[in-house]
Order: sequence, then structure tokens, then C-alpha cells
Amino acid sequence: STGIGPDGVEQNSKGTIRVLQLYPRDMNIYGDWGNALVLKQRISWHGYTPELLEYNVGDEFPADVDLIVGGGGQDSGQLVIKDDLQSQAGVLTKLAEDGAPMLVICGLYQLFGRFFKTRLGSVIPGIGVLDVETHGTDERLIGNVRVATEEFGEVLGYENHSGQTTLGAGVRPLGTTAKGTGNNSSDGHEGARYKNVVASYLHGSLLPKNPAIADFLIRTAAERKYGTFTAGAPDDRYAVLAREHATRRPR
Ligand code: GLN
Repeated sequence: STGIGPDGVEQNSKGTIRVLQLYPRDMNIYGDWGNALVLKQRISWHGYTPELLEYNVGDEFPADVDLIVGGGGQDSGQLVIKDDLQSQAGVLTKLAEDGAPMLVICGLYQLFGRFFKTRLGSVIPGIGVLDVETHGTDERLIGNVRVATEEFGEVLGYENHSGQTTLGAGVRPLGTTAKGTGNNSSDGHEGARYKNVVASYLHGSLLPKNPAIADFLIRTAAERKYGTFTAGAPDDRYAVLAREHATRRPR
């Protein structure tokens, strides 16, 4: 049986994993909040204690962060956070370089890159964690996406963006699109991988349908913090249903 011990950690817990949501107030569309909820639930299922933290514009950056998740946003949301994001570039870069697991979706994927030049021509600087650059276009890429990946099997999600991202030599793609567009309308790639950072255009949200990515992030966080990870017994019934639903042929 579990209870709260003197250190505030659940007894029998394998340890605490602190998940930080980046800018949920301004960067959180098409269900991206669900990624944080899935991480919280699966961390518990694996026998660890989740702590869900938020970082918004003007906040103090919390200490001892184990896992970072950031969502998408309209160009307008990106303009709201851009200066604050630059002020946290140092701490985020240090964490990424040190192997902290991170998931960044769409608008924050773009701003973890070198820059996003919007359709109207303004350049929003990124923090350069990822060797990618994004150019706004007049074409909007919308719809369901299936991505073949080596690490996580088939990844499923939904895209809606007009920025198109090209990868530099310092990152590798998350995978190759079997349906939908992904990073851009020319090279057939979706997302980016660098160290333990996973970047993707896919909303929906991503993690409920792709628990393999959630477990990668959790395992990496545990190994980085405790030197080891032992899996629990997650309940994948809803993930299986969500994947079936997402791949069902329209009637
Ligand atoms: N504003 C960006 C674009 O349209 C990101 C959109 C998003 O996060 N869905 O490219």
C-alpha cells in the first residue's frame, strides 16, 4: 500500500519525475495539454510520482526539471512568448545538451529551431536547440498524418501549420510521412530528433495515440535522474482504441 512519506514522496514510489509544461497559457492548441496529462498518468503507471509544473511568460524557471513538454500556437502566440523564450534560452539549451528529455510540438518546435520567418516577413528568433529553420508560406498544411519511424513505430497525429521547416545536418527527422505532409511539402520528412529532444508538428494530441513516445520520454527522465528505469504495467486500452479510431477508413 502507498502513503506519503516524510519527504513528501509516495512510499513505494520509485521516485519523482518533474514534468514542466512550457507556456501552456499561450502555446497549447489542438489538445496539446493532453501530452502533459498522458505523461502524468503513465509516470504513475510506471510506479513513479509525477509532478506537473507550468512555466508561463514572466515566471521563475523551476529547479530540478526532469522532462519538458511544449505545445503549438498561432503565430500570435509565438509573438507573445518570443522575448521570454529568449530569456530562458540558456537554461533550455543546457538541459537539452545534458540529455533532458523534451517534447516540442509545432509552434514550439519552430521556436526551438534557429528562426521562424513568418508569412508576413517578420523573423522570430528561435533558441537554436534544434538545427532547423522555418519559413511561413501561403499554403496551410492540414489533416491527419501517419509517420513511419524507426524508434517509435508508426506515429499518428494531426497537423495544421503554414510554416515549413527544413532540417540542418545537426538533427535527424523523426520519420517519413506515409500520409500527410509533415515538416514541409518537399522532402517527405516529419519532425526532428536531437539528443533526447523529440520535435513534431503533430497535435491531436500526440502522446495519447503514441504511448511509445511517452514511455521514451519517461524512461529517459528516470535513467537520467536515477540511473535506471523499471517499467510498470501501463493500461494501453485507450491508446489502442485511439489508434484504431485514427486509422479507421472513412465510411
Ligand atoms: N503558427 C505556426 C504555423 O502556422 C504554428 C502553428 C501551430 O502550432 N499549429 O506554422
